Amino acid sequence: MKVLLLRFGELYLKGNNRNVFENTLIQNIKTMLKDEQFTFSKTFGRYVISNYDENRQDEIIEKLKKVFGLYSLSPAIEVDAQLDKIKEVVSQIKIGRQSFKVFVKRADKTFPLSSMELARGLGELLLNQNVGSSVDLYNPQKEIYVDIRLNHKAYIFDEVIKCQGGLPLGTAGNGLLLLSGGIDSPVAGYLMAKRGMRLEALHFHSYPYTSTQAKDKVIKLAQLLCNYVGEIKLHIVSFTKVQEEIHKRCKSEYMITIMRRIMMRVAEKICIANNLGAIITGESLGQVASQTMQSMTVTGSVVDNLPIFRPCIAMDKEEIIAISKNINTYETSILPFEDCCTVFLPKNPVIKPTIRQAESEESYLNINSLVDECITTEEVVLINKN
Ligand code: ATP
Ligand code: MG
Repeated sequence: MKVLLLRFGELYLKGNNRNVFENTLIQNIKTMLKDEQFTFSKTFGRYVISNYDENRQDEIIEKLKKVFGLYSLSPAIEVDAQLDKIKEVVSQIKIGRQSFKVFVKRADKTFPLSSMELARGLGELLLNQNVGSSVDLYNPQKEIYVDIRLNHKAYIFDEVIKCQGGLPLGTAGNGLLLLSGGIDSPVAGYLMAKRGMRLEALHFHSYPYTSTQAKDKVIKLAQLLCNYVGEIKLHIVSFTKVQEEIHKRCKSEYMITIMRRIMMRVAEKICIANNLGAIITGESLGQVASQTMQSMTVTGSVVDNLPIFRPCIAMDKEEIIAISKNINTYETSILPFEDCCTVFLPKNPVIKPTIRQAESEESYLNINSLVDECITTEEVVLINKN
């Protein structure tokens, strides 16, 4: 029988929580495949998808590759763990004149041959059936795997497809992603979701200084993230008034610092109102003036009780771009519509702001009412993959 054999990674580390992790992972797999017909079963250390439409195998694999917590998968043939049945399947594998190696894993120790013995026997069988083939234990052109599991089934396959890794979505709480229209923040959201965090998102727009296309772009980015994280509740608020006020009343070099501090305050309030446990940004150390250590100290200092996660902090732009291409957000991120931060942009933003100076600039503003006013413009859109 044709099946997909699924492997999961770090769940082993989780001790007593393991059941929670496994149940969440299984639920997430089923949700991801909700439009497919299939049978799901588990055996120690592996999951098996069977009875699916073989014409849809590629699509099903693509979906499974987006499930966090799955480590790798293999299209495999499942047979009862009996020598003759295993041989029958292996003997049909076409190797031609390539070099090969047979890998045997035997979780089921009741199987009468040792892994070595079985690998050797199957190797001989293949050598006989494929004139010109050879065994190469170190650098084989083709790899053949036989995995005998505790359910007394053997799985035979020649391909291991890498999946996302990470932890099952929903096992690490919920966070609020500050989602701009840029390259970095979608990647930051993806990286946190990969560690099991469910996402909501917050976008600040500066309409009418920014176009409605800028907003559409952010909605599109959220949609693309949904391929991995299911549904996203996107909070959209207007930042126009805040920016106008800062522009009017504060020193221009502190403009971005104060903007960010207000963004953080709004984000914290939205987190509290929605029961979210962390703020996530796409900042990367030293990338621009507002992302120096001092800048992040000054912007982070207004958030009292939540962690601010910056998963891109130590990444080069090239590395961030590589991930964004992988998760398919890059092409949308580079569309030219500006998000709010480019409006009123000062020529010389401060590189090493201080909390004292920021507070002094803020004394010209009515911060609390600006934050509250910002939140009254909130619009909530539920985003799903399209
Ligand atoms: P990105 O590529 O994510 O836009 P960036 O390199 O352009 O990042 P900044 O514009 O300085 O950097 O923004 C830093 C972070 O602040 C972003 O990654 C995002 O998390 C948050 N942010 C910036 N602008 C907005 C916005 N308009 N709405 C929501 N969050 C924002
Ligand atoms: Mg940006």
